[in-house]
Amino acid sequence: MTGVSDLYQEILLDHNSKPRNFRKPEEATHSVDGYNPLCGDKITLYLTVADGVITDVGFQGAGCAISKASASMLTQSIKGQSSARALEIFEAFHQMMTEPDAELDFDTLGDLESLSGVIEYPTRIKCAVLAWHAMRAALEGRTDAVTSE
Ligand code: ZN
Repeated sequence: MTGVSDLYQEILLDHNSKPRNFRKPEEATHSVDGYNPLCGDKITLYLTVADGVITDVGFQGAGCAISKASASMLTQSIKGQSSARALEIFEAFHQMMTEPDAELDFDTLGDLESLSGVIEYPTRIKCAVLAWHAMRAALEGRTDAVTSE
């Protein structure tokens, strides 16, 4: 399976060196700060939601390769989706990160599957889920900072 993990590694490094949507959307309707004290990852996630659809999404901040790649992939996977669909993607991703024996929903996960190996590194799971918790909090209308610990 070396080939598969090489591919995952490549996707991860690509998102880390060229994070997608690494910006603040001009007309953001939601923003939530996320902080992972274990690693020091800090991000701000921005969403523009109109009529229940996430029309734009971006993030800023600084953190380790996994937190950044995960946030970058998040922006790609939820842009243009309904809020309800984004929460389904959250559930699929969260399950992949927390339930080693789960049957994964690969159709929903898409490229996010490349982060599946993180489950073997418990301290890094917090890095991978940080942006996702920020997204869910934003969709729930929360404005307070989210910590992943
Ligand atoms: Zn981290």
